[in-house]
Amino acid sequence: MKQKRMKRRDFIGKAAFGFLSAGISIPIARANLTDKNQSYKIIYRTLGRTRLRIPIVSFGVMNSDSPDLINKALDIGINHLDTAHLYLRGNSERAIGEVLHARGSRDKVYLATKMRFARDRERNIFSLRGNEREPAATEENLFRQLETSLKRLRTDYIDILYLHSCYSPQMAVYEPLMNALVKVKKQGKARFIGISTHKDEANVILAAVKANVYDVVLTAYNFVQKNREELRKAIQYAADKGVGVVAMKTQGGRQLQEEGKVEINHEAALKWVLSDENVCTTIPGMTTFSQLEQNFKTMSNLTLSEAEQKELQFASKQKGILYCQYCRNCIATCPKSVEIPTLMRSYMYMEGYGNLIQAQLTTAELPKNQGLNVCLECSSCTAICPNGISINSRLRYLIAEKMYLV
Ligand code: SF4
Ligand code: SF4
Repeated sequence: MKQKRMKRRDFIGKAAFGFLSAGISIPIARANLTDKNQSYKIIYRTLGRTRLRIPIVSFGVMNSDSPDLINKALDIGINHLDTAHLYLRGNSERAIGEVLHARGSRDKVYLATKMRFARDRERNIFSLRGNEREPAATEENLFRQLETSLKRLRTDYIDILYLHSCYSPQMAVYEPLMNALVKVKKQGKARFIGISTHKDEANVILAAVKANVYDVVLTAYNFVQKNREELRKAIQYAADKGVGVVAMKTQGGRQLQEEGKVEINHEAALKWVLSDENVCTTIPGMTTFSQLEQNFKTMSNLTLSEAEQKELQFASKQKGILYCQYCRNCIATCPKSVEIPTLMRSYMYMEGYGNLIQAQLTTAELPKNQGLNVCLECSSCTAICPNGISINSRLRYLIAEKMYLV
């Protein structure tokens, strides 16, 4: 793995200021991350009707099963850990469970996890044809996944339980799973329920809010999304109805291009999302202490300088962006109707986030006749992305990295 994938730019923090909500001062000596003479004031916001008070930057425990990193995040004041049943084949949940058990601090941390199910990708609906990674979309399977997650997390309740990856409004309100979540909440095994989405986000959010059962929506939200204005309005609607909003994929892929390497200013991208006051918190994935340090600085300072704004504007106009918009327009340009958006997501995990395991798991979501194995046999790629993504070169990269199924 190339080292450059994990690097982020250095950032010189400006003076801290309270924004939107009262904060608490955390002496940096306790955090032991940066300048020990400086004190940082973490900004908290309230997550809609849940009334949970959460720092504006939480920990997306997607790529890490490091107890040391989780411990450090909790030490510096992060009280919201976001994971999923399938992250790192369950090791993310296990690591969190071990840490909280050892600290005896389950009640001081808000735990969010997600349950994922089989889907029919062409029709963007849940499916009853499950596999090992994505079980059939039934109430029984939701209960089964939840029991496993509770055991791994060493707890008897989840604070926020999400229906994972709703690609369409229909998926957000798919009654067997939505009703199962409501039951889980009534049983006290989840305090709050929600959906997560990183496709057709605005419409998915509107449907979820109108269903009037969800407390939280977790959405992709970043400065390179084409639908960001529409999404901003949907987020406003959710907030007006008391539904808490959590943002993910805030970096828009972390790096913008394969060629020319425009690397995103991480803090500026985070601040761009958090400048929307209806977003309660963000869940950047962290794998290193230096990333934690960067995020820690953003937790206390939302000033988006003129230079940073210019940098984001420049970055958002670059061609060949790394971030796939999941519009699916490319599928019709492939004679075999390969599930290209999922492969582009795999590429993003690999090249943008340096996360080989997540990239492999994402590629493995696809059956052989819809995934990279088809491209392996294809001599000339005709697939075209109207948004400038070089599909062929990314597919060749995934093939060179042996990401196909054997
Ligand atoms: S690769 Fe391009 S066309 Fe295909 S889903 Fe992504 S953004 Fe849309
Ligand atoms: S390599 Fe061939 S099969 Fe794969 S996406 Fe391109 S055109 Fe489709």
